[in-house]
Amino acid sequence: MSDIKCTVSECTYNSNLACNAPMIEIAHNNIDRASKSDQTKCETFKKK
Ligand code: SF4
Repeated sequence: MSDIKCTVSECTYNSNLACNAPMIEIAHNNIDRASKSDQTKCETFKKK
């Protein structure tokens, strides 16, 4: 998997501001069609 930089340090999968999950799932963020990045969200997030 490509390197994924992520600043959500409170996620279980975050290590040194990088994502260590074996895969991640991204979805729409309460909208049918996204036109900018804040309309998407990481479904794999899990609180530390
Ligand atoms: S699972 Fe999502 S929120 Fe958690 S570190 Fe990876 S990209 Fe960031």
